[in-house]
Amino acid sequence: MDISRMDLADTGSPEGLVTLILKHEPNLPLPVPIEELALQLEVEEIAELQTEGFEGGLITDTHRSRGIILVKKGVIQPRRRFTIGHELGHFLIANHIPDKAGQFLCSREDLRTLSAKEGDRRAKMEVEANRFSSLILMPPTKLREAFKKHPTPSLEHVFQLADQFDVSKEAMARSYADYHPEALAFIVVKDGKVGRVYHNRSRFPFVVASRNKSVPYGSLFYRKGLQIGVPSEIDSRLPDIWIEVPRGQRAPTMSEQVCLQKNGFALIMLWHERAEEDEEESEDMTARDRWRAQQARYDGN
Ligand SMILES: [Zn+2]
Repeated sequence: MDISRMDLADTGSPEGLVTLILKHEPNLPLPVPIEELALQLEVEEIAELQTEGFEGGLITDTHRSRGIILVKKGVIQPRRRFTIGHELGHFLIANHIPDKAGQFLCSREDLRTLSAKEGDRRAKMEVEANRFSSLILMPPTKLREAFKKHPTPSLEHVFQLADQFDVSKEAMARSYADYHPEALAFIVVKDGKVGRVYHNRSRFPFVVASRNKSVPYGSLFYRKGLQIGVPSEIDSRLPDIWIEVPRGQRAPTMSEQVCLQKNGFALIMLWHERAEEDEEESEDMTARDRWRAQQARYDGN
């Protein structure tokens, strides 16, 4: 690596920073060597965080003339990498100023903040640091290459990419929804209740199912015989389980795939295919057919 912090001077947005980093380091390998990159960009050290109740921190001064990244001890590698990316974001984004003198401290919630209310400066910094971390660990150009190779979305593919990029399944699901050309949403389920929902806001319709309520009746989640760690088939469900279908309009196709996980978690993928006006039904492969064809290719590898 030969990038220096000077190359990034005066760049204020996560997108601008990541674009510049990738321009200077076009051959950045996967998984992105985030620790090496942080040290190359003048972070002095990555040390253990001693403060209870936080995931990560950054020791710095108002002019960001120095930086030490702190990470909670004992967290698994994908989470540690995301935290380092997040703190590196605070270090590099020009207008991030810690609310406590000389130190950023970031909680688990901060590391999940994806939107901020108008005027909430602190939340806005967290949102930007998370965006920076996602973009640098899962560069959209690399994701698009992966989607070209496997155009049919699936949880199998999400999990495979999470391994390849060394990020958590949830972090990958979030970027997958954002950058995949298909209209997708991912629902994190905990103990049978709807938790965080990730979807591409410009392509996927609003998900009606509310947080902390049971997974809607009729979802594939309730299918018998699902095994932990093994994604179900992709199967179409009634779209109005999850989204509002305006009366008088042709209903879209909504497909679901579910994977039960440990400790009462599950991940659901929703795949929304708009109803085409003059669609030749017989010529169109259903989502399930396409998924089966892709599975056959996986098995052939
Ligand atoms: Zn933070």
